[in-house]
Amino acid sequence: MSARDPLADLRRIAFLLERANEATYRVRAFRSAAKTLGALPAAEIAERARTGKLTELSGVGDVTARCVAESLAGEEPVYLRRLLATEGTDLDEAATKLRDALRGDCHTHSDWSDGGSPIEEMALAAVELGHEYLVLTDHSPRLKVARGLTAERLRKQLDHVAAVNEALPKGFRLLTGIEVDILADGSLDQDEDLLARLDVVVGSVHSGLNDDRARMTRRMLTAIANPHLDILGHCTGRMVSSRPAGVTGPGDRGHRARTRKESEFDADAVFAACAEHDVAVEINSRPERQDPPKRLIRLALEAGCRFAIDTDAHAPGQLDWQRFGCERAALCGVPAKRVVNTWTADRLVKWTAGRR
Ligand SMILES: [Zn+2]
Ligand SMILES: [Zn+2]
Repeated sequence: MSARDPLADLRRIAFLLERANEATYRVRAFRSAAKTLGALPAAEIAERARTGKLTELSGVGDVTARCVAESLAGEEPVYLRRLLATEGTDLDEAATKLRDALRGDCHTHSDWSDGGSPIEEMALAAVELGHEYLVLTDHSPRLKVARGLTAERLRKQLDHVAAVNEALPKGFRLLTGIEVDILADGSLDQDEDLLARLDVVVGSVHSGLNDDRARMTRRMLTAIANPHLDILGHCTGRMVSSRPAGVTGPGDRGHRARTRKESEFDADAVFAACAEHDVAVEINSRPERQDPPKRLIRLALEAGCRFAIDTDAHAPGQLDWQRFGCERAALCGVPAKRVVNTWTADRLVKWTAGRR
C-alpha cells in the first residue's frame, strides 16, 4: 500500500496551477488524468503504473503518468514539489488577518453556467481551503453566452445542491445562490419566487456597461432597492488586464478578460443606497477585475456599507484568490466586522432571509 493518493496529488497540482493562473491546457492535463483514473479500481492503476501502461489511457500523458508512479511509490511527485517551492507570496499582516477571518465565499460558478468544474469539485476544494460554506452563484438566463440558467434549470440545480450537501463533510454547507443580471431597467433576471428561495443573491451588470451616468445610476438604484438583492457584484464592470483568466472548462465567456473602463454612475448615491438597504458591496478578487477600485472601496466604507470579499471563481484553484481581494480591502482599511463572509453560514442566511 502506498502512503500517498495519486489522484489527490494530481488534483493538488491542478489546483496550484489554476491558482497561479497558468494556461488552461496545463491544468486540464492534470484534471483529465484525475478524472480518467478516478473511474478505475486502485489495483488497476497500480498494475498499469508497474507495467508502464498508464499512458494507454485517454487523458493520461507522460507527465501525469510520472506523477502517478512517483505518488504510488510513496514519494511527493517532483512536479508538485517544484510548484510548492515556487508558489506563494506573503501578505502583510492586515490582509492575512482579514483572509483568516473569512469563513466562506459568496460568488462562485460551476459548469452549469460558464465555470469549468462540476459543483461537487468546487465544494470539495472549498472544504480543503477550510471554508465553512460556499455559495454557488451561476448566471441568470439573459446571459446566454455564459449558459445562464433558466428558471427550470435553476430549480433542477437546487435539487442537485441538496443532494450534494448530503454527501459533503459535516459542518460544511453548500449554499444556493445566483449571480443575477441587473437588466436595463434595473429589474433582476430571474423569477421572484426563485430569488426568494435562494440563500444568497448577487446582482451584477453585464450588459449596457456604457450606459450614460444617469441611466446607470437609476438602473443600479432600482436593483439595490429590490428586496431580493443581497450583494452588488463587481460594480464598475472594469477589466484591468487583458490576460485571459485560466479556466479549465468550456467557458468563462461571461467573464472573458479584455480591458474595459469602469462604467459611470453616481457612486455616492449607489453606496448610500447599499448602506440604506443593507446590500453588501462585493470586493471581487479576480486579478483581471480588481473591482471596485480602491478609491470606491474607500467611498463605500465611508458610506457605511458592508462588503463581501469573493473570488468569482470559475475553477477550484481560483477559490484561493480571496487573498487578492483581502489585500485591496486591507489597503483601504476595511475591518473584518464589515465583511459578511466573516460570518457563519447561519448568520449569513439569517441576514439575507431578513430582507426577503
Ligand atoms: Zn459577473
Ligand atoms: Zn461571476
